[in-house]
Amino acid sequence: MAEFDYIIVGAGSAGCVIANRLSADSRNKVAVVEAGGPDSSPWIHVPVGYFKTMGNPATDWCYQTAPDPGLNGRSIPWPRGKVLGGSSSINGLLYVRGQSRDFDQWRQLGNTGWGWSDVLPYFKRSETWEANDSEVRGTDGPLSVSPTRLKRQIVDAWISAALNAGYKHNPDYNGEDQEGVGYFQLTTKNGKRCSSAVAYLHPVKARKNLRIFTNTAVEKILFDGNKATGISANRGGDTITINARKEVILSAGAIASPQLLMVSGIGPQDCLSNTGINVRHQLSGVGKNLQDHLQARPVFKCNIPTINTEVGNIFKQALIGAQYVFTRTGPMTMAASLGTGFLKTRAELETPDIQFHIQPFSADSPAEGPHKFSAYTASVLQLRPESTGQIKLKSADMADHPVIHPNYLATQTDCDTLVDGIRIARKIASHAPLSSLTTGEHSPGEQVENDDRDSILDWARDTATTIYHPTGTCKMGTDPMAVVDPRLRVHGIENLRIADASIMPVITSGNTNAPAIMIGEKASDMILEDAR
Ligand SMILES: Cc1cc2nc3c(=O)[nH]c(=O)nc-3n(C[C@H](O)[C@H](O)[C@H](O)COP(=O)(O)OP(=O)(O)OC[C@H]3O[C@@H](n4cnc5c(N)ncnc54)[C@H](O)[C@@H]3O)c2cc1C
Repeated sequence: MAEFDYIIVGAGSAGCVIANRLSADSRNKVAVVEAGGPDSSPWIHVPVGYFKTMGNPATDWCYQTAPDPGLNGRSIPWPRGKVLGGSSSINGLLYVRGQSRDFDQWRQLGNTGWGWSDVLPYFKRSETWEANDSEVRGTDGPLSVSPTRLKRQIVDAWISAALNAGYKHNPDYNGEDQEGVGYFQLTTKNGKRCSSAVAYLHPVKARKNLRIFTNTAVEKILFDGNKATGISANRGGDTITINARKEVILSAGAIASPQLLMVSGIGPQDCLSNTGINVRHQLSGVGKNLQDHLQARPVFKCNIPTINTEVGNIFKQALIGAQYVFTRTGPMTMAASLGTGFLKTRAELETPDIQFHIQPFSADSPAEGPHKFSAYTASVLQLRPESTGQIKLKSADMADHPVIHPNYLATQTDCDTLVDGIRIARKIASHAPLSSLTTGEHSPGEQVENDDRDSILDWARDTATTIYHPTGTCKMGTDPMAVVDPRLRVHGIENLRIADASIMPVITSGNTNAPAIMIGEKASDMILEDAR
């Protein structure tokens, strides 16, 4: 039977960081156990490859939510990376830390050590920001962050129109102040994706004290009383057992980490009893406090070329491919969005409450490919939704996807904020220079009048989709619903920690990859400190 000091479950955004940092000391014998395969597909490394990896069972868990009343009963896909690098291998490459007040709020909730001044050193330690010009940015971390290489006239026009509509320009939304509009920063290096595996795992995979198990799905955490002692996993149809001398660390993400706790007997009594699982330790908060960002996607037709028309035929596609191969530039370096804006829907707010993702293309769904006409998408989301959902078990078997209840748009503030965001998208489209490039609104469409807030909300409920940021299902805290303490130790259990996006007590104001990597960095230090 294999034995290690530390077992990390999941080689995703956070897990790869922890594998690197713990194995830096050759005295620590470390195993990282990943259900997905190696990240060998070239589509993982080409930025625009998410069109091929998302929805593909070779790299995506392909979760689907339960029908959601907030989406007029729709059930929507929830992709999650199932491969080395986890979701950082299939994500949209957008690098966003969040607002300093997000982390100050975490601290305010009782999470000592998680305020902005505490986490900033970890954001800096993780990154190398190519355009470094700021005290708060990192210069020599493993994760490469670069300005977008691709610019498009329609996105420039959107930024100018936003300025003319009264919003400000922000050259670095990851600096002290998030507010304003500009281009996104990307987790790329030399025009290729910099996933957490590329940044943290591949450079150290030859370490003798680090073992990377791929295609190995953890099925249960093993215990001696209330002390975690290892895991059992399915590897090619065989059950294998791995022992942990010191700790088991769950980094399986916001869906699988709570699922794994529950199938191992840690969770809400009712959820476990319903699936015939003996309760080892009752923790009511496991799977609760689920938060996500819901994006509404207004589409505007325009009279200049966008990616929709640029990739229109096979010859153009071949040229784009050649451009990428020879120069590492062009549409294949495109992240999921180019432009962004962190704005306020109400003047009295202290910080932005909505985020735009500006895309020089449009589609009814990724599977259907871009529209045949030229258009851009002004996707908008509420940064700090109040609504929370939950993850429940369908069965005691890890192979059965759990039931996901996102519970979107369940409060008045959430509905109002999204409607105001859609109205701001329209307001910006009506300002120069965008107004003269915009030829009409494809969706919601002019028939949905701006003063008719109910119809705008109804359109959002009918069409909005996730922007892939589930968090909070094993929240950190000291209250009865908390799952881990501020040192990420599972309450009531020894030698078991969780370090991934599930521990966020409140979702961050922006995309969640950078915070998940920060959590991995900070968790590593705490694990090493506690071992000393
Ligand atoms: C399609 C998509 C687009 C996104 N776009 C962006 C973006 O542009 N910018 C951004 O900041 N964020 C983005 N995100 C979100 C961001 O990538 C995630 O928040 C972040 O990667 C979460 O990190 P994590 O460590 O919590 O989990 P993950 O990175 O998901 O890692 C979990 C790992 O655990 C593994 N695992 C799960 N169950 C088991 C098991 N039983 N046994 C073994 N291994 C297991 C998984 O296969 C996976 O590798 C996107 C996410 C997706 C899916």
